Amino acid sequence: MKRLLFLIIFCITNLHAINKLEKIYLHKTPLEHEAHLELAKLVFCFSDEPNIKQISSLVEKDGFRHESYMISTDEIDNACRGRLKSLEHEVHPYYRLVCSEQQAPQAGIKIDLYYDPKQVTCSFDEFDAITNHKGVVFRLINKNLIDQLSLQERPPIHVASLARPSIVIDCAHGGRDPGAISSNGVFEKDITLQVGLTLAQLLKTENYDAYVTRDNDFSIALDNRTSFINQIRPDLYLSIHANSSKKKDVHGLQTFCLDDHLFRHNNIIDPFQRAIKRVYDRSNQFAHVVHQHILSHMYKEGHQLFDGKVRHAVAQLLLGTNIPGVLIELGFLSHPEESLCLASSQYQKKIAQGICNGIRAYFAL
Ligand SMILES: [Zn+2]
Repeated sequence: MKRLLFLIIFCITNLHAINKLEKIYLHKTPLEHEAHLELAKLVFCFSDEPNIKQISSLVEKDGFRHESYMISTDEIDNACRGRLKSLEHEVHPYYRLVCSEQQAPQAGIKIDLYYDPKQVTCSFDEFDAITNHKGVVFRLINKNLIDQLSLQERPPIHVASLARPSIVIDCAHGGRDPGAISSNGVFEKDITLQVGLTLAQLLKTENYDAYVTRDNDFSIALDNRTSFINQIRPDLYLSIHANSSKKKDVHGLQTFCLDDHLFRHNNIIDPFQRAIKRVYDRSNQFAHVVHQHILSHMYKEGHQLFDGKVRHAVAQLLLGTNIPGVLIELGFLSHPEESLCLASSQYQKKIAQGICNGIRAYFAL
């Protein structure tokens, strides 16, 4: 009896305490892009609030600064374990990242950042992700650019090139990742592809440069989607999704973007913060404009698309770039009627037209 009681108490306390490392992302900026504010972003997502502390900060013999951090965690997802291993070999002329699993004195992951302090500065933020994860993001920031920005009153950001704006459309999911699935077997990946391709066509006929992350049914890792966006460096990007909920009656359009209040800044680097805030402001502007245009176009076409509002949330794709952008959830595949609409090519064309109208209005602001 005593033993059973002990077991129950042991299980309850442990169930309560388990914090699992579930995702790791590395968003890198292509080497040739000197004008990027961030050279890399290393993101960890946990099932619960992580406990992070800086262990040391010293200068190595080769002049590189070496900063060590420890994040305690009880468990590590198997895929993350592989990712941690691969991060031991992340080498760049200005920085190196080494991540390792630790057992003692406490279980967790140790993050060692080595960087050239003449070229790079480092900061980290904590945030709550759209997926209910608790995240930590380490940012390796371009010091030369930050020094230039601190001399200017209004940091320049990459706002639309007036001649011919460029837009990246991310057709979310694909290949072995179907995304959400409706009860009658409609895949989110098929809707995002059709709407994305139609939108790209519309934008091209209106003389925009439009790029899609995929033009067929194949899977792309999130890191590769952000690398693609950072490589193209468009004026704007949007990621197209369709939602799902356990509640069958939830429906409508939701548009997500980042906002400064989503982050708990641990060591603020001021000119960087101001520059990023301007990107978030532009994203917010675009989110509202495109959201309204989709709703009003659909209404004009005879569809009462419910206004699920513009929302602020940290989604991994949004976090991986520093370009104005949004994530649009076109509707809910879990809602029987809305999923029928979303699967129809006529409805998809109308949604694409609504988004196109929003993009046109944004660039006219
Ligand atoms: Zn999705």
